[in-house]
Amino acid sequence: MDRRKFVTTASLAGATGLLSACGKQPGTQAACDNQTTAESFEWKMVTSWPRDFPGLGTGANRLAEAINNLSNGRLKIKVYGGNELVPPFEVFDAVKQGTAELGHTATYYWKGKAPEAQFFSGMPFGMTAQELHGWIYFGGGLELWREAYAPHGLVPFLAGNSGSQMGGWFNHEINSIDDLKGLKMRIPGPGGEILKRAGGTPITIPGAELFTALQTGTIDAAEWVGPYNDLAFGLFRAAKYYYYPGWQEPGAGLECMINQAAWDRLPKDLQSIVEVACKAAVMDGLSDFTYNNGVALKKLIDDHDVELRRFPDEVLERLGTISSEYINELALESELMGRIVASFQAYMDIVKPWTDISERTLLNLRPEF
Ligand code: CA
Repeated sequence: MDRRKFVTTASLAGATGLLSACGKQPGTQAACDNQTTAESFEWKMVTSWPRDFPGLGTGANRLAEAINNLSNGRLKIKVYGGNELVPPFEVFDAVKQGTAELGHTATYYWKGKAPEAQFFSGMPFGMTAQELHGWIYFGGGLELWREAYAPHGLVPFLAGNSGSQMGGWFNHEINSIDDLKGLKMRIPGPGGEILKRAGGTPITIPGAELFTALQTGTIDAAEWVGPYNDLAFGLFRAAKYYYYPGWQEPGAGLECMINQAAWDRLPKDLQSIVEVACKAAVMDGLSDFTYNNGVALKKLIDDHDVELRRFPDEVLERLGTISSEYINELALESELMGRIVASFQAYMDIVKPWTDISERTLLNLRPEF
């Protein structure tokens, strides 16, 4: 090809054309380093949340927007609320099968599909948000999570955190562990398993169906997230007592799962953008929940006369024991699960004493400001 004609064609075609000129003439190295800049991608993100739902849906929207902006539009992500493209609990299969390239959800929903997954959003009585992030990013958690998702053709990232949740909405008081017996409660994932072992009946239904189920008495009790999200669904209109603490989810991580084949097609710089945007989404989400949980808690008490109740220590201690037994049993389920439990326990052995002398000490003695 004639050189002049080639250059003209290349400039018209943009950076993709420059790819062919790499190394052939001085000064093209910068262009070669950016050889992928013309390649663009349009991805679908399915979520387990109602569209634009405070904190969860809006967090997914902000993640998609950040990736779009950081990539200068080279990776455009269209966000779908639950049931818009697939139902909330089909996100795992939809991303696995490539119906959507990525999903924004929580790992404990996939307990039946990938039992190891439940650890990475956090376990009952387990890690706080801060501790979970330490395990995922520095304590070996992410490597184990990737290993657990690899057979499903999925690449996982932490992409949000609700922080500590609430224990849930009840229409009668919980004064002893016996009050949980026969209780039909919406509580998904490992928390549901613990309730079952305490004599209750856990039900897993998407958030959007929760209010009606609680109001009509299809279920006796329900946990969703915390004040911010529970206020948005108006759950205070369907139940009398609002219990704390959220023993089932002390720092629930949200995830962004990506279809492996779609991930492999991304150039390195876009992969980095996704990775860093997901990390930013963790901070963004936890900040959103921390502030707005405080605001919503005040509204629930001041404007809606919600009655707060603390689970009795006896109930919490029993649920804690059952949780520990459950985690130890899980270790026997598979070789990988054994390594995940070992990593979880080794991390807790190291980090719990630190949390205890630092934050726990201060939190117990914090003055009014
Ligand atoms: Ca929850």
